[in-house]
Amino acid sequence: MNAAQLRAHVEAQVPRAMEQLERMVRLNSFSGNPEGVNAVGALTAALFEPLGFEAERVGCAQPGRGDHWVLHRTGQGGPHVGLVSHLDTVFPPEEEQRHGFGWQREGDRIYGPGTVDNKGGIVVMFLVLEALRSIAPERFQWAEWTLLFNAAEEVWSPDFGQLARHRLAGASAALVFEGGQRRGEAWTVVTSRKGRALFRIRVEGRGAHAGVRPERGANALVQMAETLLRAAELTDWSRGRSVNVGVVRGGTAANRVPHEAMAEVEMRAWDPTVFEEGKAGLLALAGTGRLRARSDGYPCRVHVELLQETAPWPSNPQTERLFACWEAAGRSLGWAVEREARGGLSDANHLWDRVPTLDGLGPVGDHAHCSERSPDGSKEPEYVLASSFVPKTVLNTVALLRWLEQQES
Ligand SMILES: [Zn+2]
Repeated sequence: MNAAQLRAHVEAQVPRAMEQLERMVRLNSFSGNPEGVNAVGALTAALFEPLGFEAERVGCAQPGRGDHWVLHRTGQGGPHVGLVSHLDTVFPPEEEQRHGFGWQREGDRIYGPGTVDNKGGIVVMFLVLEALRSIAPERFQWAEWTLLFNAAEEVWSPDFGQLARHRLAGASAALVFEGGQRRGEAWTVVTSRKGRALFRIRVEGRGAHAGVRPERGANALVQMAETLLRAAELTDWSRGRSVNVGVVRGGTAANRVPHEAMAEVEMRAWDPTVFEEGKAGLLALAGTGRLRARSDGYPCRVHVELLQETAPWPSNPQTERLFACWEAAGRSLGWAVEREARGGLSDANHLWDRVPTLDGLGPVGDHAHCSERSPDGSKEPEYVLASSFVPKTVLNTVALLRWLEQQES
């Protein structure tokens, strides 16, 4: 089958696939709405069932979440390929109602919660496997397929990473269907992402009456301010590291010297060494503070706790081999395919050091995580481009076929 025939085949599947997307988008699947997440999981399982996939639900480690869904198809001795997407969105039902945010098609744009992040990715994943089964049934049956759907990607439940690493141990590729981008005439796929470390900083000082005994006070908020300035100085733009002071709390009244303060800080970096340095720098802020009570030198104490850590996904040879397949597939179709380095995390961060990983294979869209719309167009909600489904499916299908052929030799 040539590229034109493949394209025509995929085009014929798209209307039905779009109906499936509409059903998924019309179901609220906020991470905190487990029934909704599981309803999208059930629709997903039903979508892939005719391709011979068996569904399994795995409880999420976080309470109040839906289940992770794992769909599996046994192969005939061929390579094992993992495909990854997520079921949840960032939008609570009340927010969707308040902003009148739902499935709405305007020209090429389809607005709605999860259209690009990440229900559109589920639909492109389906279109790719459906096309492979039609144009290369022997290859499709030869390979073993595991599809992993995260119930809590938007709230970053690390147990999904463990599940994916376990289920894809020894796999030949992990393909992540987050949305891609269009850069001029080129399609981008994601080949690296920043890592993130999340910290809680606590300062213990000593309270005092601000009028009667101010000299007895060890002001936890002032110490926190000094500590946070030093934290922010660990930003290193030239080496791609940023530190963000996101939350600060402390004090109760202006007539008291505050005895405690709390802050949440996150650090992100592309390079593993730069990331480790940033972590060490933040942890080193702990200890006896510089701020002391005037009366007796009583010091503030600074505590730094690493709450959560996700390592960077740096450029690496395994990802490059996959990228080369996508680039060559693009060339054969007359399209440029380019690497994209992306700041946000995805499930690819959990997988790249175990399995060759590529990301951004979903459709093209914009304004993910936004639900507001203003009449002057300065605010726009999440949308996906309907016209991107066919080319992204064709590109992924041709590239994946190339990859499977390489695994044979
Ligand atoms: Zn998202």
